[in-house]
Amino acid sequence: MGYIERISGPLVVADDMLGSNMYDVVKVGNDGLVGEIIQLRGPKAVIQVYEETTGIRPGEKVESTGLPLSVELAPGLLNNIYDGIQRPLEELRRKSGAFIGRGISANSIDRNKKWKLFIEKGVKNGDHVKEGHIIGYVQETELIKHYIMIPVGVEGKLSGLKEGTYRVEDRIATVDKGGKKFEITMLQKRSVRKPQSFRQKFRSDEPLTTGMRIIDGLFPVAKGGTAAIPGPFGAGKTVASHSIAKYADSDIVVMIGCGERGNEMTEVLVEFPELKDPKSGRPLTERTVLIANTSNMPVAAREASIYTGVTIAEYFRDMGYNVTLLADSTSRWAEAMREISARLEEMPGEEGYPAYLPKRLAEYYERSGKVEALSGRTGSITLVGAVSPPGGDLSEPVSQGTLRVVKTFWSLDASLANARHFPSINWLTSYSLYINDLKPWYDKNLGEEFAENRAETMRILQKEAELKDIVQLVGAEALPDTERITLEIGRMIREDFLRQSAFDEVDAYTSLKKQAFMVASILHFRKQANAAVKAGVPLDSIMKLKVREDISRMKEEKESEVDKARHRIAAEIDSQFNSLVREYREAEGK
Ligand code: ADP
Repeated sequence: MGYIERISGPLVVADDMLGSNMYDVVKVGNDGLVGEIIQLRGPKAVIQVYEETTGIRPGEKVESTGLPLSVELAPGLLNNIYDGIQRPLEELRRKSGAFIGRGISANSIDRNKKWKLFIEKGVKNGDHVKEGHIIGYVQETELIKHYIMIPVGVEGKLSGLKEGTYRVEDRIATVDKGGKKFEITMLQKRSVRKPQSFRQKFRSDEPLTTGMRIIDGLFPVAKGGTAAIPGPFGAGKTVASHSIAKYADSDIVVMIGCGERGNEMTEVLVEFPELKDPKSGRPLTERTVLIANTSNMPVAAREASIYTGVTIAEYFRDMGYNVTLLADSTSRWAEAMREISARLEEMPGEEGYPAYLPKRLAEYYERSGKVEALSGRTGSITLVGAVSPPGGDLSEPVSQGTLRVVKTFWSLDASLANARHFPSINWLTSYSLYINDLKPWYDKNLGEEFAENRAETMRILQKEAELKDIVQLVGAEALPDTERITLEIGRMIREDFLRQSAFDEVDAYTSLKKQAFMVASILHFRKQANAAVKAGVPLDSIMKLKVREDISRMKEEKESEVDKARHRIAAEIDSQFNSLVREYREAEGK
């Protein structure tokens, strides 16, 4: 046991700490505040403290728990809202009132709740089991089966496994290796700083469909992939992340919120529990873990929350689930790193951030991926990180460090939001590097046309932007008809396809099949328009065609009507252009 020598904001230097290890969790001061050793210099330890340090004094005791910073993993994780070191907010509030007191400990997982355990098919006593091996499951919520895995480092012969009703700390089985017995409970702990191992990583070759057309249609992220979304205030970051949480085809959502303003997180905490899972109608929280740092929580807790979140995500991935982890915002995390680094008097890098910022960002995103877990199942973690660059300037270190490692970038644009174009993701500056990896999946599931049409759509949007610049200078009349068609098709892609209301029941989610139909219809119109112009038909009469209205209303088509709508609109386009060309020829012939 040591004692406090010095206190500097969230950092405490303790002396007499020989025998403790890096990353050990310690109890600091008479209140027993939770901290973690982040530097050891001889008998002295530098500790980052996850609670407010005002009020503690030099000389007070510091005790190492001898354990690394860990999360608790067991049935009861879902439906929870935690702080950065996995203390359940509800429980903390119950114990200390509206303002969370210090030194309060609360179990991350309810110890008294009883769960009905089922034995996993094919598993029997006498089996040789290893870490990660799934031996049973609990129906944790209506949406999610929580698989019980053999904890890290345990291997041997399984015995005593029996179905029944258990608390998370009850013994459910024993693993015996050479006479050394290990009691298995449904509760396990994992250290947060170290990535969980797996058997192999696969290439991310399947899209994470989100139902947002600009994402799925133009800038997809793969399951197991990484994406960044910058968030100028009011640009639609919250709406976009709720939409992803709600509609993305992942099984589990882990959301880490580091609010800059106190009320921002409150918004999420109030709104999120109201969201419903669209498929089942059940509360979305039944497949969600929320980690919330309000602005009045200490910076160190913010730093920890990122690791807490990703460790929980890995746990569900290991069960064979597709997990989406949304971190909002990683800039707050980096700022916490900066503050701690400054207090450690480390040599500052760019803009005062520690020189290891890019490495930390890379290591974090590296924990994404589609893997074969130790359980033998395939699961994935898709990491979506919001960044909030001051003034929207992406040249700052956090944005740069992020962009260097993520493979998808959804560029939220304040000017689009101001023009009420939502989702305000800019189609000219966003990108996805998954297109090639996903192509075989698209070809197989949606036909080769899907990828071709995507490429064509991108070309049109780029061409449209160039033409708009020209129009600014010389006016649209100066352009040849084919280019005026491109301008018009560009507008149709933006208005009729990309623009999407998150608040309209039908429009909020669009399946890939419907997206394919929408794009194909616009491109079909374009083909016919070009042919008609070639045949001499004046552009004005093409613009007046009634089918354009059908196209602009495609987003209102119900998913169940897509096939019908597709044929109807294709037939309309053909017949309206045919009559237009015929009328024109007849008029010319006269
Ligand atoms: P941020 O979190 O970036 O500050 P919000 O996500 O709260 O911004 O969005 C601000 C406002 O923009 C919302 O209240 C809503 O009115 C509008 N908005 C954002 N995204 C959409 C969308 N996809 N559809 C319709 N309106 C949207």
